[in-house]
Amino acid sequence: MSESQASTTASPIPVRIFDTTLRDGEQSPGATLNIEEKVKIAGQLAQLGVDVIEAGFPITSVGDFEAVQRIAHTVDGPIVAGLSRCMPRDIDRAGEALKGAARPRIHVFCATSKIHREHKLHKAIDEIIRISVESVKQAKQYVDDVEFSPEDGSRTELEVLRDITAAVVEAGATTVNIPDTVGFAVPSEYGYIFRYLREQLPQLDARDVYLSSHCHNDLGLAVSNSLAAVANGARQVECTVNGIGERAGNAALEEVVMALRTRQDYYDRFTTRINTKKIYPVSRMVSTFTGLHVQRNKAVVGENAFAHEAGIHQDGVIKHRSTYEIMDPRDIGVPESKLVLGKHSGRNALRQRLAELGFEVDAEMLEKVYTAFKELADKKKDVFDEDIEAIVDDLLQEGRKLWELVRFQVVSGTGVISTATVELTDTADERRLEAATGDGPIDAIYSAMQKITNVVLDVEDFETRSVTAGKEAQGEVTIQARHHDRKVKGRGLSTDVVEAAAKAYLAAINRIKTVEDRKQAAAALNGDGVTTTP
Ligand code: MN
Repeated sequence: MSESQASTTASPIPVRIFDTTLRDGEQSPGATLNIEEKVKIAGQLAQLGVDVIEAGFPITSVGDFEAVQRIAHTVDGPIVAGLSRCMPRDIDRAGEALKGAARPRIHVFCATSKIHREHKLHKAIDEIIRISVESVKQAKQYVDDVEFSPEDGSRTELEVLRDITAAVVEAGATTVNIPDTVGFAVPSEYGYIFRYLREQLPQLDARDVYLSSHCHNDLGLAVSNSLAAVANGARQVECTVNGIGERAGNAALEEVVMALRTRQDYYDRFTTRINTKKIYPVSRMVSTFTGLHVQRNKAVVGENAFAHEAGIHQDGVIKHRSTYEIMDPRDIGVPESKLVLGKHSGRNALRQRLAELGFEVDAEMLEKVYTAFKELADKKKDVFDEDIEAIVDDLLQEGRKLWELVRFQVVSGTGVISTATVELTDTADERRLEAATGDGPIDAIYSAMQKITNVVLDVEDFETRSVTAGKEAQGEVTIQARHHDRKVKGRGLSTDVVEAAAKAYLAAINRIKTVEDRKQAAAALNGDGVTTTP
């Protein structure tokens, strides 16, 4: 250990927050984000004060390449990382995306566990170490800041982790991340890996190499494992907003940060640079853009996180907040009142509220939001934050819309055959009209849309809820659909729930088209599919 870390009473150790919402988080089934949404989220992450933004996996698609490139060149403050397999083409592509960026990082990974070595890679340890070292060296030709991850690290033999860590550090890696790729580890065991590596490899301290955690939540232990890693020598935590990510998700950024902060009495050696007052707005933006709702009882950012139901608790909180509340909702930026605007609100009030919600808009965008806001305010008296977020989300989709809804008409009732007539425009602005019958009005609309677009979706889940309270509230419909082997989500919003259902289906069709286009472009470039990541 270096002098400054030897004593627990010395200055606190900064723990880097590495946000992978835009990479691992975006791998959540159905959570495809478009580039405008990614850039907006990245801007908010910079305001939140994260140290590193993993913006994408450039080889996988043109969209990912562009996202990494744009975020690396426009977002001020954080290091911006691009992910890459240990393959020369991947690394070149990541290097290209990051070229000329202010603070670029290439993150390369290669699987190391026995199960992956034998069943996926069919390679021996020596070969894997050699490839990893070569890849780190290649990445170093593009950037100084190179991170290496032994994929499935937590299920890799300790001696193998030690040897590969020593080798990649020798080759110039500045951060070594030990992923619990499949969410299998338990805290004491995961923490021990970090202690072991630090004890075995004094060069980590001598060269100021960062060890990093990356935990998945398959057993609900992602945050606990991350904290165990920090307590045992990790100085970077990889996490996502709202804990979204592959399968059960990643360690939730807000939980890791608030645990370290709320328990400063226990974790007094560690600090993060996070401005916690920005946590809530970022959480809202990520759930709005991805369509992945935050569960009500979710720690820190769930709707019920600060709601006290039991009378004895309510009484205690009124007398003294800290009796039952360990965090102050204001510290994470939960607004005290959600009601914001009505039909007489002007552009300035709207602009200010947008800024508070994390949307910096130019004059042109403000005008668009204002027009949509006025239309909505005519239909319903009070416009809430959720309504405004939904409007912005809708407008951000617009650039990529392949099909747009012009109008629809539907006849349904008891004892009649549900019939829908739908008119859509395509990108060439050509109008297409079709009619269809169905089992209810929504089924009829969906059939008519299939006829026009030639895209057949199997709707696997259909969820409807009101965005805010009241009879005049906007209805939100979210659908989960399947198109061949691809899962996709669509979201629609309207004061008319049938229209919301129509919009959701069309949004899913538009996403399929976008994803297909991106996949085709990537296949042409890449020649094979990229299926696994740390
Ligand atoms: Mn992961």
